[in-house]
Amino acid sequence: MPDLDSRLRPTFDEVLRRNPGEREFHQAVHEVLSSLGPVVSKHPEYTDGAIIRRLCEPERQIIFRVPWVDDSGQVQINRGFRVEFNSALGPYKGGLRFHPSVYLGIVKFLGFEQIFKNSLTGMPIGGGKGGSDFDPKGRSDAEVMRFCQSFMTELYRHIGEYTDVPAGDIGVGGREIGYLFGQYKRITNRYESGVLTGKGLTWGGSQVRPEATGYGLVFFVDEMLRTRGESFDGARVVVSGSGNVATHAIAKVHELGGTVVACSDSSGYVVDERGIDLDLLTEIKQVRRGRLKEYADAAGGSVAFVEGGSVWDVPCRIALPCATQNELDADAAATLVGHGCTIVAEGANMPCTPEAVRLLESAGVGFAPGKAANAGGVATSALEMQQNASRDSWTFEHTEERLSQIMRGIHDRCLETADTYGSPNNYSTGANVAGFIQVADAMLALGVI
Ligand code: NDP
Repeated sequence: MPDLDSRLRPTFDEVLRRNPGEREFHQAVHEVLSSLGPVVSKHPEYTDGAIIRRLCEPERQIIFRVPWVDDSGQVQINRGFRVEFNSALGPYKGGLRFHPSVYLGIVKFLGFEQIFKNSLTGMPIGGGKGGSDFDPKGRSDAEVMRFCQSFMTELYRHIGEYTDVPAGDIGVGGREIGYLFGQYKRITNRYESGVLTGKGLTWGGSQVRPEATGYGLVFFVDEMLRTRGESFDGARVVVSGSGNVATHAIAKVHELGGTVVACSDSSGYVVDERGIDLDLLTEIKQVRRGRLKEYADAAGGSVAFVEGGSVWDVPCRIALPCATQNELDADAAATLVGHGCTIVAEGANMPCTPEAVRLLESAGVGFAPGKAANAGGVATSALEMQQNASRDSWTFEHTEERLSQIMRGIHDRCLETADTYGSPNNYSTGANVAGFIQVADAMLALGVI
């Protein structure tokens, strides 16, 4: 990792020492600190007040056992996490991830990113994240329900609409949020809608929340294109993943006149030169919870499924990584640059490795970091909380318009801040610095707590 400003290096060394083995957390902290040199030059109060050191230490970390009984009567044990990272701006807010790779380092990296992302939205929400090493793949609905009920039987004592408000992430969609909310309601005997977001429309959910992260990503890229005098019209786009974020990003790209020619899952990728057929993709991945290979089998013709390959080998002008962390490395970045790619925007959290980001930025590719480009999901979660608090529900059109304004606002804030701090057009610097300053000022105002 490249060296940091000498005033920030001791903080990073402390993070390495206190959090051994948490590679993704180290990476996320390093990425933010690498932008803050000019900020501490201008504002010594942030280092004097140990603001950055305090930001790197979660306010609370909860780890718990999740026992449950599978369909064959066997007892299974998973591990649950909730990291309540920073509540200077509002209740902790951030999703739950159910995936076998989940451990404390992943939850902390996601929670740390969430602080700055939530700050960037301009909404009153702090940062947190949680999840479990439970793998929902291949589990029956009844097993998923029993797992969610057991998970909530511990989590309920730590969350609340004014305390901590979880939502979905990888492996946690509408089905899981339903089971989690049901168990919370049962244990507390309260219909506290604002305790979770991503709820179904008939029981407190918001229009556009399922679509929000993918749509928001595309609104952000649309704004990037506009600043370059370009548009999505006729653009060839590649998206990784085929889950919530990827699916809705594909839908919005097609609506704006671009063509997504490839997408992926953890087993490989498909190339469909006519443009990914969303109805077919949704039926296979979201409804049947099947594998992407079935898309090629069903579509036939020239549609190819490439097992185990990298979707970034497919030439495109715009690349939208929407699967998982560190999925786009320096080799993939070099391939994208070689194919004439001009924009890479992160729908997933930290999908590009630091080496890939450096390579893309030095090649002049427009790069949008996840904490800005995928903030539409959490922003719409905050809109869901607003609707729950006022017992109101807005139309799809109104909510989508709010989302679009928020994303364009984040885009402009990133560019203005990057300019002010001497890195014109650098979205990473803009996002890190703008997100940081708002939280840091709130922490200073609230005293040493
Ligand atoms: P989903 O579970 O709906 O979809 C995840 C997709 O990524 C699936 O296609 C999955 O494939 C693929 N994937 C997961 N792990 C890997 C891996 N190791 N290698 C290759 N592909 C993989 O999750 P979401 O769409 O909700 O989340 C995707 C990303 O977006 C995550 O980084 C998440 O943190 C981020 N995000 C999500 C938000 C949301 O609102 N949902 C908000 C902001 C960010 P398979 O089906 O084979 O598992």
